[in-house]
Amino acid sequence: MFIDTHAHLNFKAFNKNLEEVIDRAKKAGIDKIIIPGAKIGSSRKAVEISQKYDDCFAAIGIHPHHVDEFIDLGESNIEEELNLFIKNKKTVAIGEIGLDYHVYKDYSPVSRENKKHQKELLILQIEIATEFNLPIIFHCRDAHDDQLELIQSYIQTGEKNIKAVFHCFGGEKKHLEKVLNLGFYVGFDGNVTYPENKNLHDLVKYTPIDRLLLETDSPFLTPLPLRGKLNEPANLIHTVEFTSQIHNISIQELGSITTKNALELFKLTPYI
Ligand SMILES: [Zn+2]
Ligand SMILES: [Zn+2]
Repeated sequence: MFIDTHAHLNFKAFNKNLEEVIDRAKKAGIDKIIIPGAKIGSSRKAVEISQKYDDCFAAIGIHPHHVDEFIDLGESNIEEELNLFIKNKKTVAIGEIGLDYHVYKDYSPVSRENKKHQKELLILQIEIATEFNLPIIFHCRDAHDDQLELIQSYIQTGEKNIKAVFHCFGGEKKHLEKVLNLGFYVGFDGNVTYPENKNLHDLVKYTPIDRLLLETDSPFLTPLPLRGKLNEPANLIHTVEFTSQIHNISIQELGSITTKNALELFKLTPYI
């Protein structure tokens, strides 16, 4: 049994074939799927899917790419919307949230003002997570120093307890060490199977198995040998195979440990 802890079944790519995609996941041994939101609309969709399918669960939040939504709607409206989604009993996390300073092709670098807004949005959502005692799915790209500093100072000043996963980990080893010291889980995706990502192989190996979570980030990051196609939860198995080789354990054992991790973090035990 495996749990795909990060699949955007709420994205347009799955509008037409959601039923089939969930069915194929089941057949591939993916027992449960967590669907993270990226803005209000996709969070709402995640909630709707979680209400329709027994083995799908929602995470809700605003991704740093959509920080404009936060600027347009304002803090209190965002808070109100998110609080509404939390009422859904199958909302199991806040996410994906974080900082993203990556300079995407054809875009200009992230401005200082945008970074400031990203941080404000992140803090607001961490506060909501702690208020409702929900775990957090952290996204982070090219912003690990800032994000870890923000989280650490949040924890220290408020003596708060945060439970979280750093999904699609892509930082340096020193960042991974900090993430592990904070007691967080770490997720890796299909891009660990790409031969050019040697640094990721080392990071996967360095992460203790009892801190690993499996995820696809569907429809993105399709693992080998399917690279180039649209990703879906059923493809998780290729990343599992690769990860089990790195850790030199059986696929079954990796499945059972990572499932236990996911059940614990997202409090899914009542659903098994
Ligand atoms: Zn992400
Ligand atoms: Zn994602």
